[in-house]
Amino acid sequence: MEEKRPAPDGGKSTEPPAPIPARILNEFVYCPRLAYLMWVQAEFAHNADTVEGALAHRRVDSPSGSLPEDAEAAETIHARSVDLSSERLGVTAKIDLIEGAAGEVHPVDYKKSKRPHVAAGAYDPERVQLCAQGLLLRDHGFRCDFGFLYFAGSRERVKVEFDEELIELTLKSIAGLKATAASDVPPPPLVDSPKCIRCSLIGICLPDEVGFINRVSREVRPIFARCDEALPLYVQSPGSYLKKDGERLVIEENREVIAEARFLDVSQVVLFGHAGISTPAVQECFRREIPVTYLSHGGWFIGHTVGTGHRNVMTRTLQYQASFDAQKCLKLSRKLVAGKIHNCRTLIRRNWKATNDAEEGRAPADLLQALRSDIRQATRAASIEALLGVEGSAARRYFGGFLGMIASGSRQEAGGFDFESRNRRPPKDPLNAMLSFAYAMLTREWTVTLSAVGLDPYRGFFHQPRHGRPALSLDMMEPFRPLVADSAVLMAINNGEVKREDFVFTAAGCNLKPSGRKRFIAAFERRLAQEVTHPIFKYRVSYRRLFEIQARLLIRYLAGEIPRYPIFLTR
Ligand code: SF4
Repeated sequence: MEEKRPAPDGGKSTEPPAPIPARILNEFVYCPRLAYLMWVQAEFAHNADTVEGALAHRRVDSPSGSLPEDAEAAETIHARSVDLSSERLGVTAKIDLIEGAAGEVHPVDYKKSKRPHVAAGAYDPERVQLCAQGLLLRDHGFRCDFGFLYFAGSRERVKVEFDEELIELTLKSIAGLKATAASDVPPPPLVDSPKCIRCSLIGICLPDEVGFINRVSREVRPIFARCDEALPLYVQSPGSYLKKDGERLVIEENREVIAEARFLDVSQVVLFGHAGISTPAVQECFRREIPVTYLSHGGWFIGHTVGTGHRNVMTRTLQYQASFDAQKCLKLSRKLVAGKIHNCRTLIRRNWKATNDAEEGRAPADLLQALRSDIRQATRAASIEALLGVEGSAARRYFGGFLGMIASGSRQEAGGFDFESRNRRPPKDPLNAMLSFAYAMLTREWTVTLSAVGLDPYRGFFHQPRHGRPALSLDMMEPFRPLVADSAVLMAINNGEVKREDFVFTAAGCNLKPSGRKRFIAAFERRLAQEVTHPIFKYRVSYRRLFEIQARLLIRYLAGEIPRYPIFLTR
């Protein structure tokens, strides 16, 4: 049955309010914010609990048997996976199992966990969900005074009486959820709650991070930062073809399997040039919300495909509204640009190599001072145009000193990486070719991240919308250009992973050869996987996971849940 959701305008639509699914009532009693995120904002994420829960439901989700037309009929009732709704209650449910006879029935709800040892036999969220099912059955003319919770983990049935107290709690919860769903803002997150540790939406909700910025949480637990990560699957060779094989993706070349990966371990599929993919593989990727990204043969980002896209329209509405607010755009842009210059300065300070013996490890003081002054100017810029000017002069200064971060051996070897200033479209020398390629990779990573969290990568605050330009990706990656892209370039050159012979020079510019590109992608991925200490939350987190946290914090800022967007700054 297709599930209706409340209107995203906070229930101001003229349509009748959508009935509340009983399972969302369960979430509401557990945490009102969880119910709001799931039902009103259509957010969903799997964790170990939800995957096990889905498996436990597989058997009972196949409909069999049915309820008799006449509730008083004497026949024995045994019906599985029955959909029931009541306009009067404003509730709907898919009931796992209904048992009974002669007009008296009992709903049975399957849970994947073990029976909890509590006085009431089960926790309130499960009892309320079951009671809502009982009330639905009563509304359909059956007598229903109790139901059962079946705990698959311990194979135990627990009887739940629908007494006055439980009915009152259930009716109150229905009314509470209706009122919550009608609001434009989600309820605040729980504070330092142990419930969050098991919540599948922790990475979307960010309860401790939001609480910490609002000064209501004492510390930030690294729950989401430490979750396992899936990784991108790169397919580079022109003749390679990606196919679905059960739970795996296999890469074939000349009809031979050369590599494979479990869908579970893949965060995105990245296809270069003429690498192909089968329709069943694309469909499975869509089902699992794995984006498929297309790059040109030279590695330039062409686009990506996703399933039906993110369903949380409220997030995009907030983004578009903010993008038309000139003051809000300027405020955010100042922070993004100042953050980028700050991180450029830190990179130079930390990575300066000797240009002569006396300077070993010490970046020129006048360069650091000038960049510090650029940061100050960026934070005070009176307009976006003024900010563009500050950004331009800081970039010239930074790239003017870029060679100072390359080891002299790497500079001289094979004619060396020589670099006067930044050039692009097309890049004319190896260093510029690598920088351009690194920024294209960073743009792709941010575009995929932003669209996965429900933001529109093409509408930004600092970068103006231009055909095909992912303006928000370019905005969000500003502070990360030095930390991820430039840093990966420096790492690849200084470690000798990419050398001058890895480039091809043509009239159309300079480009990486496939073998050099492969080694550079490995260096870039290593950088994304590297862990850093978050300067505000103090936990260790990989850059890749950090991108998602920053994107979700932007959503929390746009929704007015936190007073400022916290830029990532390194020391
Ligand atoms: S993480 Fe915590 S506050 Fe957020 S929805 Fe889940 S239970 Fe509620």
